[in-house]
Amino acid sequence: MTNPLRAFFTPSPLPVRYCLLGVLWALGGTLNAQPYQLKSAEGTLEISAQGTFTLRPGQAGLPTLTSVNKDWWLVQLWLPDHRGFAGQTVNVKAGAQTPQFQARDNGLRISYPELRQGNQVYQVALTLDIAVVDDAFQISGSINNQEKSWVVRTVQLPDWESTPTEADSLTLYWPVGLGQRFTDLSTLGSRSFNYPSGSGTMPWFTLTNRRGGLYVASHDPQRGAKRLSATYNQDKKAFSFSVQQHPFCAGGQEVPLTPVVIRPYAGEWYQAARLYRSWFDQHLQPVPIPEWVRGNSGWLLAILKQQNGDVMWDYNSLGQLADVADAWNLDVLGLFGWAHGGHDYLYPDYFPDPLMGGTSALKKGIQDAKNKGKRVVLYANGQLIDTGTEYYRYNGNEVIMVNEQRLPYTSAIRKFHSATPVTFVLACNASVGWRKRMLELAEQANALGADGILYDQLGVQGPIQCFDTTHLHQTPATAYTTGRYELLKDIADHMRAKNPDFVIMSEGFFDGLRESIAYHHGWGEGYNFSNPFTAETEDTTDLTTLMKRRVTYPELFRYTFPEVVATQRHATPMQNRLNANYAALYGLRHELESRYRADVQYLLHDSLPGPAAYADPAYYTPDVPMMQSTPPTVARSYMQLLLAFQRRFARMVWEGTFIDTEGITVSTDAVLAKGYRHGDQVGVMLWNFTEKPQSVQVTVQGLKAQEAHEPEAGNVRPDQLMPPQSVRLVLFGK
Ligand SMILES: [Zn+2]
Repeated sequence: MTNPLRAFFTPSPLPVRYCLLGVLWALGGTLNAQPYQLKSAEGTLEISAQGTFTLRPGQAGLPTLTSVNKDWWLVQLWLPDHRGFAGQTVNVKAGAQTPQFQARDNGLRISYPELRQGNQVYQVALTLDIAVVDDAFQISGSINNQEKSWVVRTVQLPDWESTPTEADSLTLYWPVGLGQRFTDLSTLGSRSFNYPSGSGTMPWFTLTNRRGGLYVASHDPQRGAKRLSATYNQDKKAFSFSVQQHPFCAGGQEVPLTPVVIRPYAGEWYQAARLYRSWFDQHLQPVPIPEWVRGNSGWLLAILKQQNGDVMWDYNSLGQLADVADAWNLDVLGLFGWAHGGHDYLYPDYFPDPLMGGTSALKKGIQDAKNKGKRVVLYANGQLIDTGTEYYRYNGNEVIMVNEQRLPYTSAIRKFHSATPVTFVLACNASVGWRKRMLELAEQANALGADGILYDQLGVQGPIQCFDTTHLHQTPATAYTTGRYELLKDIADHMRAKNPDFVIMSEGFFDGLRESIAYHHGWGEGYNFSNPFTAETEDTTDLTTLMKRRVTYPELFRYTFPEVVATQRHATPMQNRLNANYAALYGLRHELESRYRADVQYLLHDSLPGPAAYADPAYYTPDVPMMQSTPPTVARSYMQLLLAFQRRFARMVWEGTFIDTEGITVSTDAVLAKGYRHGDQVGVMLWNFTEKPQSVQVTVQGLKAQEAHEPEAGNVRPDQLMPPQSVRLVLFGK
C-alpha cells in the first residue's frame, strides 16, 4: 500500500513552547521535548529537539538510518580570488549551529538564520523543509546568502549512517555506467559518482534486502550536478551515504536546493527503479527514436584516417567498408577520422579531405554504403579543441572552459609511440561559438548524406565547472548540465525538423540525455563482457561463481530505461561468442572497431595480427588473444547467425521492454536469463556462458512456454540441453 494520504505529520505530544509561540520552536537543545514524527506508509522519521534524524523503515531487516553520530549536512563557502588564484573555502557543518523549528502542513521547517564556523559568523541562512511527499521523506530548502564576497558553492545534504548491519544482509544497486550491484557491502569501501556523466548515469540508488528497500534520489527536474557517495564502515558495520549539490549562491541571492528523497518501500529493487522512472517521466520528454535505430543490429566503427595521417580507408572505399560490415551482419557505419585531420587531431575543424577524395567522393562513398543498405554516422568530438589549431588561437578565448584561475582544462591523446601526443583543451557547451560550431557539423553531416552525427565524449564527461563569466551558463556548475542539455537538444530539434531520420549520438550516456540522444555508443561499466571479471576479491576462475558475484549489473539501467538504444563497447575488429552473446542477452547493439592498420588487414584478408602488429599503436589496442583464439571465418559466421536470429525476433529482443527476471525463474546459475515483454508475450533470452552443455528450465509467472529458438539450431524444445556458449530465446504467451 502506498496511499500518500496515509502519510502525515505528527507533532504530538506538542512541546509547551511550541504551543505558546505558535509558529516558532526555538531550541538550544535544553528542552526535554519529545521527538517530532513524520510517517509514510513504509517508515517513520523522527527529528529530535537537537535536530538529529532517525529514519526507521517499516520492512523488517532494513537498517535504521540516523544522523546522531554525524554532521548531517555541510555547506561549503567559497571566497573567489580575482587575482588568478583558486580562492579560499570554508566548510560549515550542522553540529556547530543552533536550529529553529517551525511546523508546516505536511512536515517541519528547520532554519539556521546564520551559519557559524569557529568564531566566524556568516550571514548565510539555510532553510530546510522536511516533509512527506508522495509517500517519501523529502528534504528540500533554500540558501539565502547575504555575504557580499562569499559564494555558497556546495551543499552536502543529507549525510546519514545506518545502525550496525551485517554486510551480506543488504544489497546496494549503484548507477555507475549501466549499473553496479554490491551483494556484500564489505567490498563496497567508500565510493562516489558524479551525475550527470557516463559514470553516474542516474541520480539515485537503492539498498535492499529483497523484501524491501530504501530508495534514495535527487529529484531535480534541471538534472543538475550531483555527487552521490556511499560507504560501508567495517568496524562500525555501518552503511552511510551523502548527496552533494552545487548551488553557487552568490552574495545577495536566494537559491532553492534540489530535493533529496528517501523512501522506504516493500518489494524488490524493481520498485525503486519504477519510483525513479515515474518521477523522471513527469519531467522530461524523450526524443523520438527513429525506426531504423530501433531495428539496427549494431555498427562497424571505422577510423578512416589515423591521428598520424595514416589513411586506412579513403572515400572511394566506403562501399567496400559497407561490404565488411555486411560480412558481420552490422547495419551501421560509424565513420571516425573521416576529416582532413584524421582521428583526434585538428578538432573542431572537420573538412572533407582532398587527399582522401574530397567532398564529392565522400558524398558518393556515403551513398555507396547506403545503397548497400547501411546507415552512416559521422564523427565529431563534442568537447575537444586541438591547441595547435588556428581555431584555438583565434576563437579559443570565447569558447574554452576555464577553472577558478581562468586556465583551461587540458588533456592529451597519444595514439602512436612514434608520434607526439596531441594536446586538447575543453570547450564550453554553453558558449555561443561552440554551439554554432557543433550545429554546423550536424548540418554538414546531413548535407554529406549521413544519417547522424556522433558527439564523442558528451555522454561521458562529468559536470566539470566553468568559471568564464561571458558564457550562457548561470553558474559554473551548469556549464555541463543545463549547458550540455541545451546544446544537444537545440541541435536534435533543429536536425529532426530537417530530417526526421537524422540522429544525434553520444559516446556514453546518462538519463538526462533522453531528450536529445536517440542512439548511443556504449562507454563504461557494463558495455562489454570483460567488466564482470574486474571484481577485486576473486579467488576463483569458475565462470558461474564469477557471474553470481559480479559487480557489473547492466540490469539496473536496462530495467529503468528499457527503450534506450546503445551499442556495446568492443575495441576489437571481431567478437568471440562470449562477447557476442553478452550483447545479445542485454539487447546491446553489436560493435566492431577498425582503428589500426592491422585491424584492416584482419577485416579485409582474415590476417591474424603478428607480434609487431600493435607495437606502435599506444591507445587501447585490440584484444589480440581474442582475435587469435577464434578463426576469423568462425567468428564471422557466428555473428552472421546470431544477428540474423536477433533480427528475426527484433520486436522482442531489440524493441521489447527489458524486464530482467521479474516474474521469471531459471533452474540453474550456469545460465543467465533476461526477459523482454512485447504485447502480451514475454521472451526470455537464455545464455549458457559456460563451456559445458547445461540443462535448464525456465518459467514465466502466468504464461506458458510456446516455442524456443536458437541461432544455430533453429527451433528447439524450451527445455532441451543448451550447447556450451549459446543463446536461446523462449517465447511465452497465454
Ligand atoms: Zn563556460
